[in-house]
Amino acid sequence: MAKRIYNFNAGPSTLPLDVLKIVQDELLDYRGTGMSVMEISHRSAQFDEINEAAISLTRELMGLDESYHVLFMGGGASTQFGLIPMNFLRDGQTGAYVDTGTWSSKAIKECEIQGKMHLAGSSKKDNYTFIPKMADLDVPADAAYLHITSNNTIKGTQYHSWPKVSVPLIVDMSSDIMSRQLDHTMFSMMYAGAQKNLGPSGATMVVIKDDLLQTCKDGNPTMLDYRTHASKKSLYNTPPAFGIYIIKLVLEWVKNQGGLAAVEKVNRAKQERLYQAIDLNNDFYRGPVQKDSRSWMNVCFRLPTEDLEKKFIAEATAAGFGGLKGHRSVGGCRASIYNAMTLEGCEKLAEFMQNFKKAN
Ligand SMILES: *Cc1c(COP(=O)(O)O)cnc(C)c1O
Repeated sequence: MAKRIYNFNAGPSTLPLDVLKIVQDELLDYRGTGMSVMEISHRSAQFDEINEAAISLTRELMGLDESYHVLFMGGGASTQFGLIPMNFLRDGQTGAYVDTGTWSSKAIKECEIQGKMHLAGSSKKDNYTFIPKMADLDVPADAAYLHITSNNTIKGTQYHSWPKVSVPLIVDMSSDIMSRQLDHTMFSMMYAGAQKNLGPSGATMVVIKDDLLQTCKDGNPTMLDYRTHASKKSLYNTPPAFGIYIIKLVLEWVKNQGGLAAVEKVNRAKQERLYQAIDLNNDFYRGPVQKDSRSWMNVCFRLPTEDLEKKFIAEATAAGFGGLKGHRSVGGCRASIYNAMTLEGCEKLAEFMQNFKKAN
């Protein structure tokens, strides 16, 4: 039996063990084809079944009907930052954005390259330690869209309420997609690099409502036009096929647990356990973000000194807890606890935190 650690990496990140076992089992001979999924044609009946299942499971789990297109693209979430203004910003139009940290800022930069950007809200002045109040957002009525980042992977904040706007709402859900129950129909577009909550890197899930899709601008390169991928169900060219296969397995795993309601229940318990470990030991651990903006996916915390943080990470690594170093831009510690991280993993880490405090 392979030795597996408690993997708190921010992305790519841990995958469900049950899914990895299926992949292992099917790797050399996918269901009697005598080939791996990596070796079959993306035009084959076998792959078509995988692709169709991934699309329909996405709609089913998110409660969406066929007015939403489900695409699997390459280029990561970062490519979407550029494609959104490229497809949806017409001459003279403005893209509205909420700036809640590194990834939002990168999305904003891509809009500024291509057209007019309007800052609808920002938590920059307080070092992105909170999500702006929805009532304070300033969204022009004629904006082409409002873009938000539902979970801020690096800063450790997350939206727990949603803007009510008349313009299309576009959300970067890279680090919390399918982690909780939501009315997903409030969004016109949702996208996520797969490597946090859905599968391996290399595939990006893009869900677009048809009425937004119809507003895509003409004149863009074929591969950069969302309509190309929507009309061919991501099969205009060779898609990230192996990634889509694993996404499909992860979605089946989510469904088998009871869907997003069941996943949310576990995720709620996981984050509670870790934030409790911080709050009950707040003479030692400190959570840098405002409590009502805390992320359920990326739990950021500081220790009294940087030397203690180094020691904590080293001892945690030795004890089988990986990936706890905070992003290089913010320092400190971060436990990324996406869907595939178990409650047991979070309980064990909370226990380790308690013991580390006692010993230091
Ligand atoms: C990781 C991440 C990205 C970047 O994803 P890539 O697939 O590496 O381009 C963008 N947005 C958020 C919120 C992320 O967490």
